[in-house]
Amino acid sequence: MTMTKKTTTMFRRAALAAAVCSAPLVLGCEDEPVPTRPSVADANDWCEEHALPESMCAKCNPELAARFQEAGDWCSGHGQPESVCPLCHPMEPPPGMQKLPGAGEHQHDESHAEPRSEG
Ligand SMILES: [Zn+2]
Ligand SMILES: [Zn+2]
Repeated sequence: MTMTKKTTTMFRRAALAAAVCSAPLVLGCEDEPVPTRPSVADANDWCEEHALPESMCAKCNPELAARFQEAGDWCSGHGQPESVCPLCHPMEPPPGMQKLPGAGEHQHDESHAEPRSEG
């Protein structure tokens, strides 16, 4: 395995962007794309309180809300990005993490498979 210098390039790009966008909260500044739903939940990036990736949690990162709204990935009903809304599109928590409190409060056996697939 060989190390690449990509990290350095990204660093320089970030520094350049910071220089161009001297004011941190100016609208119209070139934004990075908002995070997208990962295929598998990452234990290192998981908000156990809100049951979605921490890096996409608009409750814990309020500044993300406007960005997701702009990107058209927003559930106004629940105040989270639509693609990872813990109520509309719940993700399977990482191993060892619990599901959203209340989501599985029924004590019945839920051994049946998912009722339908996306589409
Ligand atoms: Zn959260
Ligand atoms: Zn929702």
